[in-house]
Amino acid sequence: MALKTSVGEPTPAELETEAARLADKGLSGLGYRDEELERAARLTWKINRLKKAQRAVIPAHVYQRPEILLGVADFIGDSYKLAKLGAASDAERIIFCGVRFMAETAKILSPDKEVLLPAPEAGCSLSESITAADVRALKKKHPGAPVAVYINTTVAVKAECDVVVTSANAPKIMRKLYAEHEKVIFAPDAMMGRNLAKELGKTIGKDLIIWEGTCIVHDNFDAASVEFYRKMYPGVKILAHFECTPALTSVVDYIGGTGDMMKWVDDHKASSYMLITECGLGDLARTEFPDKVFVPMCRLCPHMKAVTLERVLSALERPTASQRIEVPEAVAARALRPIARMFELSEDNSPS
Ligand code: SF4
Repeated sequence: MALKTSVGEPTPAELETEAARLADKGLSGLGYRDEELERAARLTWKINRLKKAQRAVIPAHVYQRPEILLGVADFIGDSYKLAKLGAASDAERIIFCGVRFMAETAKILSPDKEVLLPAPEAGCSLSESITAADVRALKKKHPGAPVAVYINTTVAVKAECDVVVTSANAPKIMRKLYAEHEKVIFAPDAMMGRNLAKELGKTIGKDLIIWEGTCIVHDNFDAASVEFYRKMYPGVKILAHFECTPALTSVVDYIGGTGDMMKWVDDHKASSYMLITECGLGDLARTEFPDKVFVPMCRLCPHMKAVTLERVLSALERPTASQRIEVPEAVAARALRPIARMFELSEDNSPS
């Protein structure tokens, strides 16, 4: 049966109902004006109908635009959660609202599904900082040391390593690797590598080998301003992402991945919270915890924000070859092993 690629236009009444739904979901609270709600509603109305007709599913990373998160996403989360939920879904197509390495991971885990990346150019400064040849050179220089790579890497890099980690499970998986090895290679995020060295009591260059990649969003926060904000907002609890510099993470109240940061906010009562990460998490937190106060301190990721509702709709209506994610079978098979190892180690609760 031919794939349905058009659902026509909403009637004025349907448009009004959809705009009201988006407002209730939290877009009004985030400052969307009536005309912006109507623009978004025209697109979300079409996307949600086409998605259903095509048996498609939309996973969205927490750094996506609020109108994507609240208007069309079927599940929202960090890289780990999205990878698992995408694979478990019985959808035939995945329209991945995130960046390329995430869509590639989804394709590896769901080889029979069509995976589309609405913004095909959406990369990541971390995944672009290291190549498969770089990993092979590291292994040659440090024979016997297992290689853990952050999930923010290309499929070719994952294919060269022993285990993939995320910001949520990196400390746990690294501890398990150290239970059996004296030296571990961690790439490509140098900031996370330094934060891990501190948390695990390891020495960079001796028992922890790192790579000098950084995230263009998290690498640029100013640690000195934390003291200023504490004076300005007495009682504020400051949370920072694992990809921030050690100078910053050493002066905050909590350090973790996006999912952990949201959980920490949920579990704690404070006068206000500051989430030092990409701005999308703050938007999401404001809608999930409307009674809590959030002090802004965030940066936009140009890669994440390259995904728009217009581009999601175009991926459903007329996908281009560049939006379609293809991973050669042999590379996918090699990259799947370290991803499967991550699931195994992060869900294994035996002591390391
Ligand atoms: S926020 Fe940083 S790590 Fe995340 S996609 Fe953007 S550049 Fe990459």
